[in-house]
Amino acid sequence: MNGFSVVGFNWESSPAATELEIVVMEWLSKLLQLPKSFSFSSDSGGGVMHSTTCEAFVCTLLAAKEKILDPIGRDKAEKLVVYCSDQTHFSFQKSVKIVGINPKNIRHVLTSKSTNFRLTPQSLDEMIKRDVEVGLVPMYLCATVGTTSTTAVDPLGPLSEVASAYNMWVHVDAAYAGSACICPEFRHFLNGVEGASSFSFNAHKWLLTNLACCCLWVKDKFVLTKPLTTNSEYLKNKATDSGHVVDYKDWQISLTRRFQPLKLWMVLRSYGETGLREVIRKHVKMAKDFEELVTLDKRFELIVPRYFSVVCFRVCPYVIGKKYDYDPEANEFNEKLLESVNATGCAYMTHSVVGGVYFIRFAVGATLTEDRHVAMAWELVKNQATSMLYTPTPKL
Ligand code: PLP
Repeated sequence: MNGFSVVGFNWESSPAATELEIVVMEWLSKLLQLPKSFSFSSDSGGGVMHSTTCEAFVCTLLAAKEKILDPIGRDKAEKLVVYCSDQTHFSFQKSVKIVGINPKNIRHVLTSKSTNFRLTPQSLDEMIKRDVEVGLVPMYLCATVGTTSTTAVDPLGPLSEVASAYNMWVHVDAAYAGSACICPEFRHFLNGVEGASSFSFNAHKWLLTNLACCCLWVKDKFVLTKPLTTNSEYLKNKATDSGHVVDYKDWQISLTRRFQPLKLWMVLRSYGETGLREVIRKHVKMAKDFEELVTLDKRFELIVPRYFSVVCFRVCPYVIGKKYDYDPEANEFNEKLLESVNATGCAYMTHSVVGGVYFIRFAVGATLTEDRHVAMAWELVKNQATSMLYTPTPKL
């Protein structure tokens, strides 16, 4: 990419990079079957490549803030409230702080196992109502498709309905799971996205693209670019003045930008939509196989149903003589199990905690992963657990 020596500032300095980005974002939006309102072919929609979801959060939060304060006055900034769930990625909270929202006005709506850690419209509505009653101003909702801990999917349609009653901006963060939605059988996870103001996913997570590449679409590019537009004398040019070109510098934080679309263009052209779907399906199938192996061994349990290519599991508390789901010793046992699996150097898994329960996450997402690796990973987990369970603790 550097070989082309693209000077990624405005359209005039990098017309090829800009035009290719538009093409690639349109291709992707078709692959994801995003509503036409997010496309450049609509009156005000369009897509842009950022590096990270955090940047997408910052830019859309800023746009939402400006939009809501314009009619009511900047002195109301302290009253603005943003909403997310207790499963939303931490980068959202960071972004909220960056755009100067009072940290006391970030609402992490609680989720629970009974709804598989989804954000429910009822609990959101209740929280918003309480805020409105005390004179606060609801501004922004971050809904997630594929939460980081358990890949929970928030119900986009019903949540957008609640938010739209308060004229709020709704952003859909599908950083990990968005890629899966290029397959028709997984597209339903995005149902309701038409009610959102913006949508983003990280192509570097599961669409075979090198770090870092976050694709963001908005319904209203004029609202997005309003707080981000700069108009320095030295960048003035006829193309920009004509209003017919896209100056991506006004869609992001910095002026300078990399030739990001080239790497996604290469991926799309090399694999094609059929090839990409095959990769996703293969990964999901391997995760499903692992999930089946877990469920066949009664000593283990799934923490949540598997939707994509992440399996959340643990050794059941009863196996170590414990009764309660969130027993600290059960947590400790699973933590030690994960440590021992990773210490072998043969596989690497991660963990999380939801509802006080520590669990292990097995994720498939690399191009070189094969069925035999999955089988080996399960053998490893099973054998480590067996040896931990049947190794007598030395008597002192
Ligand atoms: N959102 C979700 C659901 C994620 O899983 C992650 C990262 O794991 C992020 C956001 C953060 O992404 P980024 O590092 O691109 O800001």
